[in-house]
Amino acid sequence: MRGVAMARRLLIAWAAMAVLVLASGCATLVSDQQEIELGAQYRQQLAKEVALDRDPGDLGYVNALGQSLVRAAPAQRPGMPFTFDIVQDRSLNAFAIPGGHVYVNSGTIRAASNESELAAVMAHEIGHVVGMHHKETIGRELGLNMVNELILGAAGQSGDGAGAAAGQPSAGAQSAVLLTQVVEKGVLLKFSRDQEYQADDLAIPTLIRAGYDPNGLVTFFDKLMAQGGGGGGGKVFEMFSSHPLTEERIQRARATIAQYPRNPNAKRDAPAFQALKARVY
Ligand SMILES: [Zn+2]
Repeated sequence: MRGVAMARRLLIAWAAMAVLVLASGCATLVSDQQEIELGAQYRQQLAKEVALDRDPGDLGYVNALGQSLVRAAPAQRPGMPFTFDIVQDRSLNAFAIPGGHVYVNSGTIRAASNESELAAVMAHEIGHVVGMHHKETIGRELGLNMVNELILGAAGQSGDGAGAAAGQPSAGAQSAVLLTQVVEKGVLLKFSRDQEYQADDLAIPTLIRAGYDPNGLVTFFDKLMAQGGGGGGGKVFEMFSSHPLTEERIQRARATIAQYPRNPNAKRDAPAFQALKARVY
């Protein structure tokens, strides 16, 4: 009985998501392949600009957790090369870039009380990827021509020679400058309020199917609300950077969770999480 109700709710969540994606109309702007190629360039650039945790144990942990959440997501994007990284930064942040690359700051890991809270943050970011939200920001902020320039320019970093001969920066150099701006200004990570809601809506069934207590999302929200809601200040948490956390959003998440059957055996914490929390920067 419970299983049937659960399956029905998950089906509803999936159908709602499919409608939203189709209705956005922007999903056709860039192809998956273009998103993946742009994401690969973005990831390389980001690696030059932030300090990444290179510890194999830390990476193994976040990747195992991340992949288990990806498998549980109510929407799948086969071919997206999901990766999970830890940025060595004490501020609260987490974000997903195009192509399925998810980053969590060590400050977020330190702020999470238990594994279900970290899983909730990651499931929200996965929600942006499987919700195809980057296709919209790429289309709006860059457009198809610029995306192709970035991909092609990065492929031919040596430049085409013509511009260089005239004392102009080569196409490769121009696209490198553009890519740096895109990464530093975070222009592809600005989502609409509806996309934030949708990422929350996708995170909840993801957490449930992966066996986690979805209330990790709410308890983490509560914690951030107590710290000022992420609006303004030095903390630019992707989950609230363009839309400060509101009591309404927390209530909304609570109401969504209440639609699913409660699992008394849901996971909340794991010794591996507490060990990670104790050793990250
Ligand atoms: Zn978000």
